[in-house]
Amino acid sequence: MTASAPRSAYLHIPFCHRRCFYCDFAVVPLGDRADAFGGSGSGSIEAYLDLLSAEINLSPQGPALATVYVGGGTPSLLRPDQIAALLLQLRGRFGFQDGAEITLEMDPATFERSDLQSLIAAGVTRVSLGGQSFDDVRLAALGRRHRRQDLLEACHWLQDSLQVGELQSWSLDLIRNLPDQGDQEWEAQLEQAVAVQAPHISIYDLSVEPGTVFAWREKRGELALPEEDAAADRIAFTTRRLRRAGYSRYEISNFARPGHASRHNRVYWSGAGWWAFGLGATSAPWGERMARPRTREAYASWLKDQSQELDSSLLQGSAGSLPLDDRLLVGLRCHEGVDLWELARGCGWDERRCNRDLPGLEARWQTYVVTGLMERFGRRWRLSDPEGMAVSNQVLVEVVEWWELLPDPVAP
Ligand code: SF4
Repeated sequence: MTASAPRSAYLHIPFCHRRCFYCDFAVVPLGDRADAFGGSGSGSIEAYLDLLSAEINLSPQGPALATVYVGGGTPSLLRPDQIAALLLQLRGRFGFQDGAEITLEMDPATFERSDLQSLIAAGVTRVSLGGQSFDDVRLAALGRRHRRQDLLEACHWLQDSLQVGELQSWSLDLIRNLPDQGDQEWEAQLEQAVAVQAPHISIYDLSVEPGTVFAWREKRGELALPEEDAAADRIAFTTRRLRRAGYSRYEISNFARPGHASRHNRVYWSGAGWWAFGLGATSAPWGERMARPRTREAYASWLKDQSQELDSSLLQGSAGSLPLDDRLLVGLRCHEGVDLWELARGCGWDERRCNRDLPGLEARWQTYVVTGLMERFGRRWRLSDPEGMAVSNQVLVEVVEWWELLPDPVAP
């Protein structure tokens, strides 16, 4: 069984001023002075936008989009008219539903208030702001280019736009469990996030990825990462503090005030399909994932091949479904958890197979129910919050181990 028809699209804009010390995303650093207004890097941006536009033109058409997410990289390095042209092209290809959620990732110090207004006029309804920290020393240690003052200013503009009804919502990104980060420092970060009235907050724990400056520092013994217990306590504290401020945790990393949960995020977790465009972007319009090459050269050459013959995962009816392990891993991240049997049937599992293989996973999860890390409501299982969500990896690893021991995991 394939995913339902895609009603969401992701566009990847790979350009950043510089690579942050913890980041291993598919990005193209252009230098601190780069801009899209004819300065250094503007030629690279134009050339990439031509490729992106060609990819959108090659795409099969589909139903009108309910959500669009322009991420990166730093999409706010583009001029507002370049973002407007991309949105116009996407609208021409698929159409946008009334009230579609159009999110743009923006970094402080890459835009002025007037740019925000032009972007809203171009159709952006939601902004995801890469704040990461309100502390200048931290921002420098993360390799970020903006500073506290830039962040406060950006938050102020976004909140103003929300209050006058120009924006539907905005979100603030923060990074937690940084080297040497004490409880007091983290609590102060949360207080500031609440004080700027961000209606949605995404919080990611630092993960040291191979090939980054942080990985190199870790190897040299220069990165004092928090102990597991301290990290888990801080995660649990976060939920309690934000709950007190009126936020609910609808997914492991995401907190929202009523009416501000991201609709686009939910697509990834619901098993529905999505389009994606741009280097390094992963699409799964009909269920099967397909990741594009991560460099400009390889992406350009992949695009040339696509103009001869489109990848089969992009064509309705010819792709496989998102496998059950994938759906469980994303579903367990959400507040509502998963109905194991319903998901298995949705992946094409018959009764015989469900009866043979699912009780094994249920037995593993039952031990977590006993220790309070999971909860079970009839056939629905979910991580407890905050205890289970704070140590989610333990439960997610169980899914992976169970999956690997199955005799024929990917057979329908
Ligand atoms: S701005 Fe974001 S995408 Fe760009 S390098 Fe930094 S963390 Fe990575």
